[in-house]
Amino acid sequence: MTIDSSASRGTPDAPRIDISFVVPVYNEEECLPFFYQGMLAVIKRLEPRYAVEVLVVDDGSSDSSWELIESISSEYKAFAGLRLSRNFGHQVALSCGYHFARGRAVISIDADLQDPPAVALEMIQKWEEGADVVYAVRTTREGESWFKLATARLFYRLLRRLASSREPFDAGDFRLLSRRALEALNRMPERHRYVRGMVGWIGFRTATVEYARQPRAAGKTKYPLWKMVRLATDAIVSMSFTPLRLAYVMAGLVALPFLAYLVYNLLLWVIWDVEMVKGWPSMILAITAFGSAILFVLGLMGEYVGRIYEESKRRPLFLVADRVPRHTGNAKRD
Ligand code: UDP
Ligand code: MG
Repeated sequence: MTIDSSASRGTPDAPRIDISFVVPVYNEEECLPFFYQGMLAVIKRLEPRYAVEVLVVDDGSSDSSWELIESISSEYKAFAGLRLSRNFGHQVALSCGYHFARGRAVISIDADLQDPPAVALEMIQKWEEGADVVYAVRTTREGESWFKLATARLFYRLLRRLASSREPFDAGDFRLLSRRALEALNRMPERHRYVRGMVGWIGFRTATVEYARQPRAAGKTKYPLWKMVRLATDAIVSMSFTPLRLAYVMAGLVALPFLAYLVYNLLLWVIWDVEMVKGWPSMILAITAFGSAILFVLGLMGEYVGRIYEESKRRPLFLVADRVPRHTGNAKRD
């Protein structure tokens, strides 16, 4: 089955949706039954005030996740499923869900109940108060290995340094986006997507709610080390071109000590008349000069490559949050 994106959005007879939940799923057959229970309890509290949809994106699972998604979707009309043709990875599955979500507010949530669905109620509250982006910030993380915690900590610090990221520390992918924030995000066409950083980039009014991250309801993490390394690389490379500037730093690191050493040796020779191996100073000078010139030019190339990269992302140049006056037409203001 193929899905036509235009059919899913904005058709006149489509029911109005207030809250969309977007749930990326990869081999979560053990978790899904628990997740549905948790979700149904939250839907019960939201309806009838809000019309809710739960968009479950199957990221090419090889277990029975899709069958479970099909059966819940036929049982409850709030649930709907999308199945990707293969495993594209969490960030892409999430982006797919964002693309199809119809709600006035969209909440992304994991299927393993590490993000308790009930926190969504507080997020909706903040959204009603005017926030466009509501981050759920983890105060504690139970049931995760010290290794994951330590690497996550190191990673967020590094990212903050390199990419001047704007999203709060310890915010995962559990968040609410208002319609306009979502549309801004969907306008960013880049392919290597580090959604967290992109959400930080779009700005708008933000708020946070705190929650205690729970252990997984069942099964094992679908983020093995290599996927985390890939995510970290995407995060740093997609949000900054600082690494390209390393050549500048290296040029300095190479040139300065060698030049100092050369000057010292020349002083020995000129002032104190110490014997020198013939040709040594000129050789060192040549090596240092060439080495640092090459590194410097590499750094310069990096600046250009970085700019080409920035341009090729084709992000919107700006996003407008508000305008006054708000009315349109020619009516005179009084
Ligand atoms: N996930 C996905 N595609 C992947 C890996 C993970 O859609 O390639 C989903 C997974 O099913 C879960 C969410 O992304 O709902 C977060 O993954 P996980 O819980 O394994 O990550 P962790 O919480 O351990 O960082
Ligand atoms: Mg998890």
